[in-house]
Formats: sequence, structure tokens, C-alpha cells
Amino acid sequence: MKEFHDADAASTNPKNIGELKTALVNRLIYSIGKDPIDTHERDWFFALAHVVRDQITLRWMESMRQYYLSDAKRVYYLSMEFLIGRTLDNALLNTGGYEAFRLALEDMGMNLDEIGGEEEEAALGNGGLGRLAACFLDSLASLRMPGFGYGIRYDYGIFSQRIEDGWQVEHPDNWLRYGNPWEFARPEVLYRVQFYGRLVETQDTDGQRRYQWLDTQDVMAMAYDLPIPGYGEGTVNNLRLWAAKATRDFELRYFNEGNYIKAVEQKTSSENLSKVLYPDDTTQMGRELRLKQEYFFVSASLQDILVHFGTEHRDLAELPDEVAIQLNDTHPAIAIAELMRILLDQHGLAWDQAFGITVRIFAYTNHTLLPEALETWPVRLFERLLPRHLQIIYDINQKFLDEVGRRFPGDGDLIRRVSLIDEDGGKRVRMSHLAIVGSHKVNGVAKLHSELMQSTIFRDFARLFPDRFINITNGVTPRRWLHQANPGLAGLITEALGDSAWVSDLERLRGLVPLAGDAEFRSRFRTAKFDNKARLAGLLKQRLGLALDPASLFDVQIKRIHEYKRQLLNLLHVVTRYNRIKDQPTAAWIPRTVILGGKAAPGYRMAKLVIKLANDIARVMDRDPALQGRLKLVFVPDYNVSRAMELIPAVDLSEQISTAGTEASGTSNMKMTMNGALTIGTLDGANIEIAEQVGRDNLFIFGLTAGELAELRRRGYQPWDYYHANSELRRALDMIASGYFSPEEPDRFKPLVDSLLMGGDQWAVLADYADYVAAQEAVDRLYGDGEAWARQAVLNVAGSGWFSSDRSIREYAGSIWNIQPQA
Ligand SMILES: *Cc1c(COP(=O)(O)O)cnc(C)c1O
Repeated sequence: MKEFHDADAASTNPKNIGELKTALVNRLIYSIGKDPIDTHERDWFFALAHVVRDQITLRWMESMRQYYLSDAKRVYYLSMEFLIGRTLDNALLNTGGYEAFRLALEDMGMNLDEIGGEEEEAALGNGGLGRLAACFLDSLASLRMPGFGYGIRYDYGIFSQRIEDGWQVEHPDNWLRYGNPWEFARPEVLYRVQFYGRLVETQDTDGQRRYQWLDTQDVMAMAYDLPIPGYGEGTVNNLRLWAAKATRDFELRYFNEGNYIKAVEQKTSSENLSKVLYPDDTTQMGRELRLKQEYFFVSASLQDILVHFGTEHRDLAELPDEVAIQLNDTHPAIAIAELMRILLDQHGLAWDQAFGITVRIFAYTNHTLLPEALETWPVRLFERLLPRHLQIIYDINQKFLDEVGRRFPGDGDLIRRVSLIDEDGGKRVRMSHLAIVGSHKVNGVAKLHSELMQSTIFRDFARLFPDRFINITNGVTPRRWLHQANPGLAGLITEALGDSAWVSDLERLRGLVPLAGDAEFRSRFRTAKFDNKARLAGLLKQRLGLALDPASLFDVQIKRIHEYKRQLLNLLHVVTRYNRIKDQPTAAWIPRTVILGGKAAPGYRMAKLVIKLANDIARVMDRDPALQGRLKLVFVPDYNVSRAMELIPAVDLSEQISTAGTEASGTSNMKMTMNGALTIGTLDGANIEIAEQVGRDNLFIFGLTAGELAELRRRGYQPWDYYHANSELRRALDMIASGYFSPEEPDRFKPLVDSLLMGGDQWAVLADYADYVAAQEAVDRLYGDGEAWARQAVLNVAGSGWFSSDRSIREYAGSIWNIQPQA
């Protein structure tokens, strides 16, 4: 690929700037309908977004035309979540228009950053899984690969979080309030999605049994398209999101009864389907509306895929040569049964041919080993909502179990374990088993995760289908997470490497290795980090009235709040450090700012209590003069993609401290490494590969390994032993349990401490405490030598190339999808 320049020289000449200014004013007047003498900044944001979208749209049509003409195989990425964030800056940087638009706005007395601040986040996801989908779309487009996203256009994305009196309070995310300037509504792209109803069995002329699904309650799926601009010479791909619309028939039925109001009510009720994103990423909610959302977007997407394929005039046997479908977790796994239904009932294919086609098309990405997150649905619900799909799942299961029985005669327990139906206590459909049996590849998202997936939850399947299981380690897009989020460091890297080719070829960062030993480079690197910290301090001052010292060590843990991620371990270290400082107030402490951020699922009591604990500890410490300039704790509210982009460039120490064997991959660990943070982490998820890539000496690894923890549990883990053996741990726990940080309600945090001491400490917080605190001491020692720290930080950036999502996507394209970049 030829090198792409951030600011095309031609685009910043006076003539072009003049044209942009005219275009902006025209859009303001004709598209937004505002008089330039009486505007809000938001009006200018919308005008700007429209001008930028115009430019992208031409390239997008070119890309679509090219894909059409080459008739290349396509991948469709099905995901319930796309955590995109803001689009404006990303689009400007990917297309090279940033500088020209900045100048045009400056000429008009405006500031691009301020105008960009008016954009609402597209927060259609919970966390890592949804953000991965967004990074993958960026990489597919940047690599010129024919890849299309399908998801749901939720009216409300993940809730916005406010902190009131230290507690999380959820507020609705009304992101479409002012409209979404990036999307194209496609009222003509409309598909019928059926629910409920009854089955009628018929006989074909050739004696085959067929089924008709009748008397269904239907909802329409309407398409909205979001163009996804690749970087530089990349293509512009498409993300198609479905919104629920009422059918006309529905209304008619009630109209005929003369019940107008009832008809309108019915209309709103079916449109509720795409109203809101479920805000929990780690437990299975099992609500009917959720299963409806899943089938809704799967059904619409498959209809759309088949329309494009041209089922009317093509042989369906060719479908796997034209189409690959990736299932992002099991949420869209019902697509396997849906494609079977279409092939059998609508196209009359024989079972074996239909199933052969289906398996060649689908692949499934597993994201979690936590049993409570594995998706299952009551058979009774399935039967009511999707009767034909349940029947097909039973048929898939029957044939699969027959085969297992032939290969392993007499092993009834194996049959019970691998069945698509869990027969224990109320029968349930196991969506992961459906996804495995109906796919040709199943991947985990980091080496350890993929190994554990095959040795634990899917062990039987790994034995049955040894070639099906592979690893593809996650990645993040360097465009958003380094080039865009950290212009200071990005500029320095470009200067040091001689060009910006690293933005689309991140392995080139290896070229920085020799510069880790270059004092002049290190000094500039340190300045860039300091400037980012000062900038963050400024933002938090303005937004929250906080005073952060950019010279202190910025120690950051930002991610969803969950017990397995162990924010509580972090807080135990904070309390321990607090006690140490109080005990020796005159010692030479390395000043530290500990920053925490993340949302808790609204129904997750323990996680919400952790947020309150962080805020209560912060309050006590803020009032204590002994702590001033030594230790500060901050909880940043409403962690989202934009917050992440502000925080990550300013991180010194990246907290990746999940219980070994629980964090499938993690991706904030990658973003922070790329931005020159050092990791303090367990040997979990992709931390292991980060250690391999940047060198084990350049991060702080602590704690039990997954294997050691399994062994400890076999012997019988006793959290009390750790409590009794470690006086600092005991002191910290006693303070929290007895109300030291919550004198107005001394028992407030007892449930947290009880979960550790009485509840068996499921996540081994106490087992890892001492080693964690020791690793934190090593952090202080290294940070005390700024040059030594900077050397290792440079080596972290230099070793982060492997974690580009471009690498992940190339692996998917090569080993699963069999798709090629377009010329
Ligand atoms: C990257 C990212 C995540 C994932 O973070 P992990 O630490 O890997 O869980 C979650 N939320 C947002 C907003 C992100 O940008």
C-alpha cells in the first residue's frame, strides 16, 4: 500500500479551504436549516458532519461498485453490539481531511475540537466485545476487505453513568435526540420478521416433509446504513443496523375492529424491540425481549445477505464460496437454525446438503469461560417464540448425537454433556453448543483463553472436532487508539521512523527498539506523556473540579466493574498504601494518582458497591492532609469510548489484574501498551502475549497462574489463612468492614468483605494480595528512575505491533473466511 499522508498538501491549499468553507455554510443553511448569524455549535457540528459524509459517500459507492464487479467473497460480521464512539475525528483522520477542515473552521472563528465535542457517542455496546466489533470494522475497511457489519440500531445505547453521593445512577442514553448525521435511513430496505405462530406439516411431491410457519406476529426490520471509512487508501465499508417497525397488517387487524387506538398501541409495542441495549455483559438475563432482539436482527440480516447473493437465479450450493458469516459470541447463533429453515422450508434443499452449506458458512467466536455468561434459553420459551427453529435444533441435535453415539458407543454421559439441550432441571437450549456444531471454526480470543476453552468448557467438543478449534488473539485499531487518541506520541513516532507507514503496518513500531536507548528520544517521549497527563488533568479539572498532579504516577484501571476484574484488589492496595503513608508520613513516597472508571450492570449489587467504596475511600483520603501530594484516588464517571481516548494516552501504569483464567483477552491492556504504559498484571488473557511481545522484564507480572490457582482450589482454598497471615491485609479489610470509610453507615461494605472471607473469595483476591502489593513496590522503584521507566515504556510501544486488529483480521481472513483484500 502506498504511503498515506495525514494532510494531503493539496487539501490545505487556500482554494480548497475556501471551498470547504462554502460547503459548510451551504450545509448549515440547506441541510440544517439554520441562519449562519444565529447558530449553536451543534448546528455547525451537523453541517460539518454532512460535508464529511458527502466525501465519504462517494468513496463508499466506489467501494460497493468494486465489490459488486469483482464478485468477491464477503464476510458478514454479526454482532449484537458495536461500541463505536464518535465518528467525526476518526473519519477526518482516516480520509486525510483533518487539517483542511481544522483550518477552514479556524478561518471562520471556530475550533474543530470544540465542534467535535458536540457529537453524541454511538455507544451500542457494553464493553470489550462491542468495541472489538468496531475495531474489526475499521481494520476490514483499512485492509480493503469486503466485510460488512450487521447489528441493531438501538434507540438507547448503554446507559450513561452519573455518580450521586458516590453511588452509580443510570441515565438513559438518548443518543439519537438530535439525529444521527452519519447514517442513511433505508425505508425501502424492509424485511418481515416472524414470531410465535404455529407450524403446518406438508408432504412434498418427492415425499419430503416440509413445514409452513403460519399465524405469526410480525415485526418489520428497517435498514440504516453507516459508512465505515478505512484509513488512507482503504475502502469505505458498510455497517447495516436494523430498527424495528410495525407491520401494516397489524394495524389493519385492529382497524377492522374499529379500534384505532389499540392499533397505534400495538405499533409502539412492536417497535420496542430495538428500543434498548441490554446493559449486562457477564450474566445471561434470559428475558424474552432479548431473544426476540437476537432473532430479529439475525433474520433481517440473513434475508438481506440472500437478496444480495441472488437466490432467485443462483445455485445455493455456491453460497459458501460467496459468503462467510462470523458470529460474535452466541448472541446471533440462532442464525444457524434460521439459515437451515430457509434452505429447507423455502428452497426445498435436502437436510444433508443444507447442513453442509450452513457449517461451511458459519464460524463462532467465544468470548467467555464464565458459566454464568454462557447463553441458554428455556425450551418452553423457544417453542412459543420460534417453534420451527426449536424443531430444527432438535433435528441438528439428533443427527449430531447419533454420530457421537456411533463414534463413542456406550458413553451416555458424553451424549448428555454435549447435547444442544440441557436436560437438568427445566430443559434449556445451549446456544454455545448450537454455535459449535453449526460452525466450521470456533475461535478463542487469546492463546490462554483458547487453550482453556478446549481443555475446560468445550473439552468434549475439542475431542469430537479437533480441527474446528483455533485461536485468534484480539487486537485494537491503531488508527483510533494511537494515531487519533495520542497525536503527540503519534507525531513523535512518525518523525522517529521517518514516515507514518506504521499507522497501517503496526509491526513497524519495532523500529523504535533502538530508540529506547537514545536519551534524546526518551526525553521527547517523556514530554509527550507528561503533556498528555497535563491535558487529562485539565479536562478533569474543568469537568469534575479535580486537581490532579501530572508529575505523579498515573495508575489507571478502566473497564466494566466486575468481581473477576478485581477492582477490589486495586482498592485493597490503595488502602494499604494509605496506611503506610499514615504510618510514615515523612518517608519519600512516589506520588501516585489512582484512577478508576467503569460502569456496573444496573442489577449487579456487588459491582455497584465497589463504585461506592472507591468514592468513599477517595473522600476520606481527600480530607487527609497527610495524603496531599502523595496519594489520590479518583473515580471518573461515565467511562465510554471518548473517555477512554482521553485517559489512555495519559496512563503510566495499566492495571490488568483479573483472576488468572477469567479475562478472555482484554483489549484495554493493548490500547495502553500501545500508548506507552507499563502493565501491572496477572498471567491472564492477552497479558501473556503482551509479556512475550514487549519482554517479560518490561512489565510487572504478579499472582497465581491459572494452573496454580486450579491446584490451590483442588487442595482447598482458605481465604482466612491469608487474612491471618498478613497483618496489612487484615488491617485493610477490617477498616473497610468496620466502616472506617463509611462512618455514617459502618456496615455498608460488609457484603464486599464477606464475599472474600465468608463467601470463599471466588476470585482469589486474598491469594494474590501480597504479590500484588510487592509488584506495586517494584513499580515505585522503577518510576523513581524516570529514565529507566521511559526506556521500558518505549519498549512497550515498540512491542505493541502484534496487537493491531489488522493482524487479527488478516488471521480471520486467512484461516476462517477465505477472503482477500481487493485491489
Ligand atoms: C477497550 C474498551 C473496553 C474493554 O476494556 P477491557 O479492559 O479489555 O475490559 C471497554 N469499554 C471501552 C469504552 C473500551 O474502549
